[in-house]
Amino acid sequence: MDCIFCKIVKKEIPSDIVYEDKKIIAFKSIEPVVPVHLLIIPKKHIPTVDHLEIKDKELIGELFLIAQKIAREQRVSESGYRLIINIGRDAGQTVEHLHLHLLGGKKLPWA
Ligand code: 5GP
Ligand code: ZN
Repeated sequence: MDCIFCKIVKKEIPSDIVYEDKKIIAFKSIEPVVPVHLLIIPKKHIPTVDHLEIKDKELIGELFLIAQKIAREQRVSESGYRLIINIGRDAGQTVEHLHLHLLGGKKLPWA
């Protein structure tokens, strides 16, 4: 499958990995828009939130708990951070493999 994030999961292309377990991997965005810009993804290929199924319920919960853990490790928990999921064209999703953006390290404008 020609998915760049699946290739990152399989280590076929390099990335700056900050967390990995059996089901989830997190790495630095190649084009950070803020000082801390990480992408947290399920290893399983799910294109968008629109493709989630009931059986993914636990995995999605874990994604948020890992985001919390990474935010603490990156020392942005106290200052605050933002989690974003873009879904589809109007939201500007460019990679069709579900990912949670973790953004922080500076005061974030709302829009
Ligand atoms: P989207 O716009 O789909 O919500 O976000 C895609 C994210 O993936 C962006 O932050 C973009 O910089 C990042 N990205 C795209 N290609 C690569 C890549 O090959 N490696 C890494 N580390 N990040 C990527
Ligand atoms: Zn994928």
